[in-house]
Amino acid sequence: MVSVPYLRGLSRVAEGCYAWFEPPGSWGLSNSGIVVAGDEVLVIDTQNDVPRARALRAAARAVAGSAEITTVVNTHDDGDHWFGNLLFEGCRIIATEASLAGMRALRMNPLRLEELGEPGTTLHGWLRWRTEVFDYESWRPVHPTETFAGSTTVKPGGTTVELLQVGPAHTAGDAIVHVPSAGVVFAGDIVFHRSTPITWAGPVSNYIAACETILALDPAVIVPGHGPVAGPAAVRDLRDYLSMVLEYTSRQFAAGVPVERAYREIDLGAYRLWPHASRVFQTMCAIYAELGPAQPRKSWAEAMEIVLADDQS
Ligand SMILES: [Zn+2]
Repeated sequence: MVSVPYLRGLSRVAEGCYAWFEPPGSWGLSNSGIVVAGDEVLVIDTQNDVPRARALRAAARAVAGSAEITTVVNTHDDGDHWFGNLLFEGCRIIATEASLAGMRALRMNPLRLEELGEPGTTLHGWLRWRTEVFDYESWRPVHPTETFAGSTTVKPGGTTVELLQVGPAHTAGDAIVHVPSAGVVFAGDIVFHRSTPITWAGPVSNYIAACETILALDPAVIVPGHGPVAGPAAVRDLRDYLSMVLEYTSRQFAAGVPVERAYREIDLGAYRLWPHASRVFQTMCAIYAELGPAQPRKSWAEAMEIVLADDQS
């Protein structure tokens, strides 16, 4: 596997392919990708806020030479992957239909973050922290100009780039970006590397299938949504983690164990060492919702309160 240092900014990962890293890759600190092909540049995910998007655009222009940024892909509707779209206005901006619907719903409006949590809660403190870390001065939502469902191909500069919808999994409309000629997959938040994944949408079986889809492409390099560059072994590890959580949680559900008790009793083994291990609670809530759609489910705020209160990372 290629060795790419995990440092803030742009790193080359393969011929014509670059990753933009935001270490340590924790809440809201996501990666972007850049593909330079002939006279065109494709950008994958546009960062979480205005300064980061501006820095990403400057870096893309620096490696582009005379090539022009023409195309943007948003892998899904979490803000850290599309809030920077306003810096790329005028480009083709592509996402799945389901992701566009999520962007329009704007579950976490960055201009009204603190309203999403009750004062005094851990969630409220976390939302306030986000308003301090990320800068939304002059921000406004810029949505994709094109959508697809299933799969589609774009050809910036004549290079074939495949867009594959693998969601609903992490979110309702996850897509991955495959550059076959370079052996690179930009995986969005299907792949968290060296931290714990989180399942907002599910089903988790689809999340596992998405890992299998990436492995079947046999990429040399996988740029995760969060964390350092990965190889297939990291995706197998992630798949095995999700399979373990799904199997355990399904057994607890069948036995009538309340989800919070099931969470308190889960043995994560070595996976407990992954940062943000408490995210497993949200994934377990997604599995309970999947298995018992008629039963009352934890709200986003209720689940996040527990995830964040237990987050030791
Ligand atoms: Zn993300």
